[in-house]
Amino acid sequence: MNIAVTGGLGSGKSTASRLLAVAMSAEHLDTDQLCRQQMQPGNPGFAAFSQVFGSRFLSADGALNKQLLRQAVFTDSGVKNELERILHPLVREEVAEYYLHCCVTEKNLVVEIPLLFEVGWQHDFAVWVVVYVPEELCYSRVAARDGFTAEEIQRVCATQLPLSEKLKHAHYVIDNSGTFVSTVQQIAWLGKNLRAEISMGNARKTG
Ligand code: ADP
Repeated sequence: MNIAVTGGLGSGKSTASRLLAVAMSAEHLDTDQLCRQQMQPGNPGFAAFSQVFGSRFLSADGALNKQLLRQAVFTDSGVKNELERILHPLVREEVAEYYLHCCVTEKNLVVEIPLLFEVGWQHDFAVWVVVYVPEELCYSRVAARDGFTAEEIQRVCATQLPLSEKLKHAHYVIDNSGTFVSTVQQIAWLGKNLRAEISMGNARKTG
């Protein structure tokens, strides 16, 4: 079974998806991390990006200047769109290939995808889990984790579906507004439920 975990910025996707992978003895993929790997010199994302932008976002050593690119993504929708046009198909293919590997090794796969519904990849997955925390709590956790300003956080959130919309699509919701222990308990329940679904051979309808 392949399971997608999504949510808002800082809602706890990483925390919840890693716990769920442990609960199900599943493999885990983080699509943000796949994007970052694609943008390393020598990889296809970096090559395609360099063809479009030349050395505009490179440091003297030839590596990507992440700070410069991050600023451009915030302020220039042309750069953001082009980056997504390059990276999304590459990452989607990587996830599909890894799922094939999991099918062969008979493992489940948990994939963390911030923009699952926005990019329309939900039908690649059997189960859609949304991790929820109220907006104010997201903001304070992201500010503590990344040092982002409120304005930067708002700009990122403005490009995403509101969490309330994501919740409407969810097969399962994890409420991560409490303690880590509360989240662990919900994940333990979810893992058990999904394992039961698998053993009953449930074919979930994702349409
Ligand atoms: P996302 O992957 O959605 O951006 P993370 O899982 O990285 O979110 O969580 C954002 C921040 O909030 C991290 O610093 C994480 O350690 C913290 N965090 C996550 N869940 C909880 C929780 N239940 N209680 C307190 N802090 C949490």
